[in-house]
Amino acid sequence: MDLTTHQTHEFTGDTVICNLDPKRAAKMIGEELFSKTVRRKLNYEYSASNYMVYCVVKDIDLRDYGFGKWNTFHSEHLDLNEAFAQMYEQNDFSRPSFAITTPTLLTEARGDCPEDCQIVEFLTVANYSYFKQLWESDRKAYRQKKQGILDSILDVVEKHYVPNFRKHMVFHVTGSPTTNERFCWCPNGNSYGSSLTPRNMGVDRLNHETSLNNFYFCNASSGYPGFAPTFWTGALLYQRLSGDAILG
Ligand SMILES: Cc1cc2nc3c(=O)[nH]c(=O)nc-3n(C[C@H](O)[C@H](O)[C@H](O)COP(=O)(O)OP(=O)(O)OC[C@H]3O[C@@H](n4cnc5c(N)ncnc54)[C@H](O)[C@@H]3O)c2cc1C
Repeated sequence: MDLTTHQTHEFTGDTVICNLDPKRAAKMIGEELFSKTVRRKLNYEYSASNYMVYCVVKDIDLRDYGFGKWNTFHSEHLDLNEAFAQMYEQNDFSRPSFAITTPTLLTEARGDCPEDCQIVEFLTVANYSYFKQLWESDRKAYRQKKQGILDSILDVVEKHYVPNFRKHMVFHVTGSPTTNERFCWCPNGNSYGSSLTPRNMGVDRLNHETSLNNFYFCNASSGYPGFAPTFWTGALLYQRLSGDAILG
């Protein structure tokens, strides 16, 4: 359906590949139409949700500050489980651990990023239920929490990596778990599809088979999460359906 005109279009095909979240798709179609085995496999929990900051910095070369064709992971804790629990379970970002990535240094492709600018992203975990409850009960508190996490991250960045980072930051946008859900239609704001627990990873892991005729799943939760595994999941399904051997 076109979301602006509300006009609907019907597409038909001999084979249908569903690349949105399988659990969400099954709910939309009607879970009762799927076999008992597939329904059991669809009963997965989602992986942790996230908090993102996309920034543009101007008149500064991040290579002079140790950034380049790689990602940097900063932790304020020696124990990563503790770091995760403090942010994800206690919603406390006073000592944030986060990843820093510099896309304009990772590739030659600059898109429409001006010559004197570079893009930098900060990424960490954040609890979906906590943000959802804030979003629904107190928008001001929701915005303050988002801003508070940003300030906490930028304080660390200025202390350890780029003094005066804020002075060079000409644009920034933050995203919470509920942003991920609203903008990307990502259930519970998950980062990596289903959670990679022993239960979800064992023999009961979902795959492309849906139990519906000519209808296949192709998603992190029915294959494997991450960019490379996403290509792999798609290529493997293509190979299975076409018989065209493309994977060595
Ligand atoms: C912040 C963040 C950073 C990440 N960084 C990395 C990284 O550096 N390296 C890495 O390897 N992986 C990374 N990942 C993981 C990677 O992005 C995912 O594993 C991958 O995108 C999963 O691909 P997918 O096709 O299964 O699902 P998605 O990319 O989520 O695609 C599903 C699509 O379905 C659409 N959709 C949902 N509902 C509907 C509907 N009802 N109708 C129509 N369309 C719908 C969604 O809008 C979406 O476009 C990151 C994830 C996050 C959230």
